[in-house]
Amino acid sequence: MRKKYSVIPVVAALSLFFLEGYCRAEFLTRTRIMMSTQVTITADASLQDIKEAFEVMAKIESLMNDYNPRSEIGILNRKGKLAVSPEVKEIILRAIYFSRITNGAFDITVGPLVRLWQKMGKEKRLPTQRELKDTLSLVGYQNIKISDSMILLEKKGMRLDLGGIAKGYAVDKAIEVLRKRGVKNALVNAGGDLYCLGKGPSGKWKIGIQHPRNMREIFGIIRVTDKAVATSGDYRRYYVIQGRRFGHIIDPSTGWTVQNSPMSVTIVAPDCTSADALATGVFVLGLEKGIKLINSLPGVEGMIIGEGMRVVKSSNWQKFEVSDLTERMK
Ligand code: AMP
Ligand code: MG
Repeated sequence: MRKKYSVIPVVAALSLFFLEGYCRAEFLTRTRIMMSTQVTITADASLQDIKEAFEVMAKIESLMNDYNPRSEIGILNRKGKLAVSPEVKEIILRAIYFSRITNGAFDITVGPLVRLWQKMGKEKRLPTQRELKDTLSLVGYQNIKISDSMILLEKKGMRLDLGGIAKGYAVDKAIEVLRKRGVKNALVNAGGDLYCLGKGPSGKWKIGIQHPRNMREIFGIIRVTDKAVATSGDYRRYYVIQGRRFGHIIDPSTGWTVQNSPMSVTIVAPDCTSADALATGVFVLGLEKGIKLINSLPGVEGMIIGEGMRVVKSSNWQKFEVSDLTERMK
């Protein structure tokens, strides 16, 4: 039993823990470092199935990593115009959908702001009004134009950053490959953005949600099947500038990193692309607007941990929750 909890220190940097399966022979587990995180696939499947799932994730990464100048997103950001592969078009379309429903809180055109804040983190200073204004003028999903496979970034200097959605999309693609190969039970976890296919070794997959302030503690446990789970947290990546903490998620309406943000947002959704994008978008929207949005979306549930550990759960969140102590310890 203890063994299950012993995985905690190993994946302490992640926001969701997979709490079972390591001791059952029929489930294989393999881990790779991809997309700047640890990707683990646990599946009642062959090694070849798992290998092919990793391969599709590697392909997604090679297309979408904006830090790689040879990736499609790298080239698009440089040239401002590119005929892209169907996967890149699909993720951009989905990202625009999430921009619309979050009123612009989720916006993949934050690329220039992400770079600005990285620079501020290095230089240990805050941006000037001018820097913020100039950079902010390059942000706006309405300036992405799509015609067939051609993507056009209307303003010179625009940059797409798929960091808030690509891991979820890659997880969905891996699950698609596993499903096509006849796999019924699998968990694909890309640094805390995950999908639970079918069941785990002891029924529905059991997922631990990271305590946002105590990295060695699990805040809550949920059980899910055929669902995605993703978390955005303020503890994951941040810069310290002049003694203040600045997170890695940006509010596109101000250009600043999200101020007075929740500590964490966990979303359960039918697919991981949605869960990933919504976790980031709701993090920007904040507790009140965020929970309202979650409750308005069919099939989506969520839990937000706000300032002072104030916890807000969506209407049907409790159906996933494992509250019974003996069950939690299993
Ligand atoms: P996540 O950890 O999924 O919440 O994604 C955070 C990453 O998404 C950041 O590191 C940026 O690459 C990108 N990002 C930051 N702010 C936003 C935003 N408002 N909308 C979309 N992506 C964002
Ligand atoms: Mg996200």
